[in-house]
Amino acid sequence: TTFDQLGLSQPVLQALDMKGYTSPTPIQEQAIPAVLSGRDLMGIAQTGTGKTAAFMLPSIDRLREADNQTPFKSCRMLVLAPTRELAGQIAQSAKDYGAMAGLKVHSIVGGTSVSKDRNKLHRGTDILVATPGRLLDLIDQRALNLDGVEILVLDEADQMLDLGFIHALRKISQLVPDDRQTLFFSATMPTAIKELVGKYCKNPVQVSV
Ligand code: AMP
Repeated sequence: TTFDQLGLSQPVLQALDMKGYTSPTPIQEQAIPAVLSGRDLMGIAQTGTGKTAAFMLPSIDRLREADNQTPFKSCRMLVLAPTRELAGQIAQSAKDYGAMAGLKVHSIVGGTSVSKDRNKLHRGTDILVATPGRLLDLIDQRALNLDGVEILVLDEADQMLDLGFIHALRKISQLVPDDRQTLFFSATMPTAIKELVGKYCKNPVQVSV
């Protein structure tokens, strides 16, 4: 299988060419067509399997297709990640893969200047990568709302629970629009994660690698 056969657009294929990726990994093969079709997704996958590209590449094409304006003080795609390091890596991937798509990417994480975050968010963002705590701080301060979210990604959900983000995740689930698409990733599937999937996803396609 090639990336081309999975239905990705020319700008995304060009970005993959620049990255030097020749063929999709198993999770990318399974996830990309499902995400492009608009379905919710529940992926059981570890880091190193190529899961970032599995959710980011088709999401970039979904955003390009819908072609909505960047929403003021909000974002079109929200990616939640457990740690600063992972959030930084995902934001860099979004910039690399979206290089030809003209999408604005920002990350907001704890331990950095809140006033800088407020400035970044003011004009709106296409792809926002965030840790849950800092995200809620900025929402409380009215620097950000989640009304514009078309695609929501939870990455390493089991790690987020281990780090005590369950209340934050419940709260965030109430702040995003009902008609969004949700992509949920976890390395493990304990009961608490299954409950969270039930709260976040509608009839998700399940992929496992
Ligand atoms: P991830 O599991 O998302 O952390 O990705 C693991 C690593 O694999 C990252 O360094 C990616 O840049 C790389 N990668 C992802 N997809 C591919 C692919 N299809 N071909 C080659 N490398 C890839």
